[in-house]
Amino acid sequence: MTLTLDSKVPDGDISEQWTNHKFDMKLVNPANKRKFEVIVVGTGLAGAAAAASLGEMGYNVKVFTYHDSPRRAHSIAAQGGINAAKNYQNDGDSIYRLFYDTVKGGDYRSRESNVYRLAEVSVDIIDQCVAQGVPFNREYGGLLANRSFGGAQVSRTFYARGQTGQQLLLGAYQALARQIDAGTCTLYNRTEMLDLVVKDGVACGIVTRDLSTGEVAAHNGHAVVLATGGYGNVYYLSTNAMACNSTAIWRAHRKGAAFANPCFTQIHPTCIPASDEFQSKLTLMSESLRNDGRIWVPQSRDENRSADAIPEDDRYYYLEERYPAFGNLVPRDVASRNAKTVVDAGQGVGELKNGVYLDFADAIARYGRDTIEARYGNLFDMYERITGEDPYSVPMRIFPATHYTMGGLWVDYELQTTVPGLFALGECNFSDHGANRLGASALMQGLADGYFVAPYTISNYLAGLLGQSPVSTDDPAFALEVAAVADRTRHWLAVGGTKSVDYYHRELGKLVWDYCGMARNKEGLEKALTEIPALREDFRKNVRVLGNDTSLNQALEQVGRVDDFMELAELKVRDALHREESCGGHFREEYKDEEGEARRDDENFKYVAAWEWKGADQPQELNKEDLEFDYVALSTRSYK
Ligand SMILES: Cc1cc2nc3c(=O)[nH]c(=O)nc-3n(C[C@H](O)[C@H](O)[C@H](O)COP(=O)(O)OP(=O)(O)OC[C@H]3O[C@@H](n4cnc5c(N)ncnc54)[C@H](O)[C@@H]3O)c2cc1C
Repeated sequence: MTLTLDSKVPDGDISEQWTNHKFDMKLVNPANKRKFEVIVVGTGLAGAAAAASLGEMGYNVKVFTYHDSPRRAHSIAAQGGINAAKNYQNDGDSIYRLFYDTVKGGDYRSRESNVYRLAEVSVDIIDQCVAQGVPFNREYGGLLANRSFGGAQVSRTFYARGQTGQQLLLGAYQALARQIDAGTCTLYNRTEMLDLVVKDGVACGIVTRDLSTGEVAAHNGHAVVLATGGYGNVYYLSTNAMACNSTAIWRAHRKGAAFANPCFTQIHPTCIPASDEFQSKLTLMSESLRNDGRIWVPQSRDENRSADAIPEDDRYYYLEERYPAFGNLVPRDVASRNAKTVVDAGQGVGELKNGVYLDFADAIARYGRDTIEARYGNLFDMYERITGEDPYSVPMRIFPATHYTMGGLWVDYELQTTVPGLFALGECNFSDHGANRLGASALMQGLADGYFVAPYTISNYLAGLLGQSPVSTDDPAFALEVAAVADRTRHWLAVGGTKSVDYYHRELGKLVWDYCGMARNKEGLEKALTEIPALREDFRKNVRVLGNDTSLNQALEQVGRVDDFMELAELKVRDALHREESCGGHFREEYKDEEGEARRDDENFKYVAAWEWKGADQPQELNKEDLEFDYVALSTRSYK
C-alpha cells in the first residue's frame, strides 16, 4: 500500500464532531477570499450549491458544465423527494434515527461520522430551500408535507409533487445565477473537463474542450471541485440521463485520486421494463409510488389472464409476505433482488414476462382517484405516455434498472480526495451511502455537500495557501495536458474503424449487466475480466468516429467517455470479485443465507476498498480504510 487513507474524522462524540470541527477549521477573512480561484465542475445540486455558496462567500469561482444550461444537470430528473430529520410528522424521527437508518440501509459499509453529519445538516437544507422558494408540497395546515421512502418506518421525505429534483435545482440555479450576475461566478457551459492538472502532487487546474468549437483550453485554480454525478451509464441502459458519464472522475483517478467501492451500484426496483433489444434509456418510476402501490405477480408461471381478472388468491404479494414489517417499503436492494427472483422463476408479467405489477387499485378505492392524482399525477401521465397503458385502471409494470452509484472518488471527512486540492461532492464521491443508498438521500447528500460542508472545508484548505498565486496556465504542467487532450481527440477521429461508439457502449453494458449486475458470482466476474479487455482492444482498433473536431460532434464526445467506461468497468468487476461477501447492492450468489438473503462478512470486509491507479498497463492497487461502528451496532439487516 502506498496511499495513506487518512479519513480525518474528528475526535469526540459523534454528535459534536461537526460543530467542533467547524470551529477548529481555519477561516479566510472576507478581504482575502477574493484572492482565491476555485474551479467547480458540475452544476447539478452538488455543484450549483457549492459554486453559489463559494461565490456568495466572495471567492472567484469558475463553473463548468457540458450542458447548455446548468439547469439540464441530471439532478433535474429526481422525482420522489429529499429526506430530512425534521420530525414534522411526530412519528419518532430524529437526527440519530436518520443516521441509524442510513448506516443500516447502506449495509454497514459507510463511514459513521460522515453519515451523522449528513443527518445533522439535513434539517438546514429544507430551511435553505424553503427560503429560496422551493415549492414543497404542504399539508392542509401549511406545514411541509412528508411521505415515506424505503428502508425507514417514519415519514421524512419532503417533496414537490413528482418533480423534487427540478424544483431544488431551480433553487440552486437561481442562487448560482445571482452570483454569475454579481461577477463572483463565471459559467462555462457546453464545456467538458477532459483532464485534471496536477503539479507536485497537488491539483491546480483542469483542461477542457469547448463542445461547440472544439477549442481545448487550460483553467487554473487554487482548488478543484468535482461534482460530476454518477457512473451508472457504464451499464449503457440505466435511469440516468444519456449524457451522464465518468470522464471527470476517471481522469482524476488516473491522476492519483483513489476510486472507492466501484462495485457498489444501486439497481432501482421501480423502472419501466425494457420493451425491446434496441432501447437506449430506461425510465424510472419514483420509489414514492411504493407508498401506495402494492407489488405482486401471479402465483402461477402459466398465468395468461389480465391483471384485473386474477383473483386475490392467485396473486403473490411477495414483499408483503416475506417482509411484513416493511412490506412494499423495503430498501431498494431487497426489493430489486426479490423482483429478479420472481421474474427468474417465470412469474413475470407483460408481453416479455420481464416485469412485476405495481398496483394502485386498493389506494384508489381507499383515497379516491383525485388524491392519487394529486400525489403522483405527473408520474402516471409519464407512464401512460411511454407504455400506452393507463395506470389508474391497470397496474403499472415495473422492473429493476441501474440507477445510482454508491462508489466514487474516495474522500475524507472534508470531502477531499487523495489528491490534495481536489474535492469531490455529490454522487461522484463514495462517502455516505455504503453499499446501498436509501431513497431520497442523494438529493440530501448533494445539497449537504454543496451548501453546508464544502464551503467550510474548502476554506480550511485555501486558508493554508494565502499569499500563493494559482499555478499559471503557462506552466509546462498545463501545456503537457492540453497537448495530450488535443492528441487524444485527434486520435479518435483517425482510427477509421467500422463500428459505432454506440455499438461498443451497448456491448460493454451487456457484459457489465450480465456479470456484475443485480447478482454476481466468481465465474461470471472472471469471465468479464477477460471479455472486457478484449472488447476494449477491439474498440480502440475498430471504432469509427465521423465528423471533425472543430464543431459539435456528439460521437467524438461519446468516444472518450466510452473509453473511460471501458476501464472503469474492469475495475468495477475486479472490486466485485475481490469482495467475497454480499452487502447492499453487491450480491454475490455464493454468499447468501438459507432464505436467500445477503450474507455479509464483517470480519474480512468491513472496509472501504480504495483503488489506486498504477499506470495504464498495470492493475490498480487495493488500499483499505477500515470502518469503525461505535454508534450503530453491526447486525444482520432485517426488514421482516
Ligand atoms: C431518474 C432519477 C430519479 C431520481 N430521483 C431521486 C429522488 O427522488 N431523490 C433523491 O434523493 N435522489 C434521486 N435520484 C438521484 C439523484 O438525482 C442524483 O444522485 C443527484 O441528483 C446527483 O446530483 P449531482 O449534483 O451529484 O450530479 P448531477 O446532477 O448528475 O450533475 C452533474 C453535473 O456535472 C456536469 N459534468 C459531468 N461531467 C462533466 C465534465 N467532464 N465536464 C463538465 N461538466 C461535467 C454535468 O454537466 C452536470 O452539470 C434520482 C436519480 C435518477 C436517475
